[in-house]
Amino acid sequence: MPRVGVLALQGDVREHARVLTALGADVVLVRRPEELAAISGLVIPGGESSVIDKLARAFGMQQPIRDAISGGLPVYGTCAGLILLADRITDGIRGQETFGGLDVTVQRNAFGSQVDSFETDLTVEGFDTTTHATFIRAPRVVEVGPAARTIATLDDGAVVAVRQGRLLGTAFHPEVSGETRFHELFLDTIGAA
Ligand code: GLN
Repeated sequence: MPRVGVLALQGDVREHARVLTALGADVVLVRRPEELAAISGLVIPGGESSVIDKLARAFGMQQPIRDAISGGLPVYGTCAGLILLADRITDGIRGQETFGGLDVTVQRNAFGSQVDSFETDLTVEGFDTTTHATFIRAPRVVEVGPAARTIATLDDGAVVAVRQGRLLGTAFHPEVSGETRFHELFLDTIGAA
């Protein structure tokens, strides 16, 4: 099984590590640039994207992660992780940057304050059955560029999961709802890389 990293600067690192370990992956928590060389895939957790961005820059991780993504490293981002994988964000906090890689525009906290969090069942391209998705102060993808592909939408058409090559992003948190298929997809991408 592959050695995979979970970016461990902030966010729900342990939940991802637990799912990946249960699927048989060898999981390492990544905080330093040199640790990227030892992994064959990276998960960017949910949390607060502006904080992860700030810490990544402070720890000299931003450019190495950008280089790894453009070099073809499989990466899965959930929620804040999706925001960090987006090429464009509409409403970053004070100069917030992303690693980029997904040809999408993402709006942070897109579901308003009165519905901070919600759960719903989603149809996902390639899945036999729906997934129970947990959204927590979630973003939505407001524009999907030609290089990216939508794999799940809410009933109102909001795009909440996308793929592009070896990159996968979901606005929701499979790692907290017992759903393993997105992590399996990520591990399959590594196997095929
Ligand atoms: N609202 C958070 C952000 O902007 C994301 C929330 C989450 O990861 N659950 O980064």
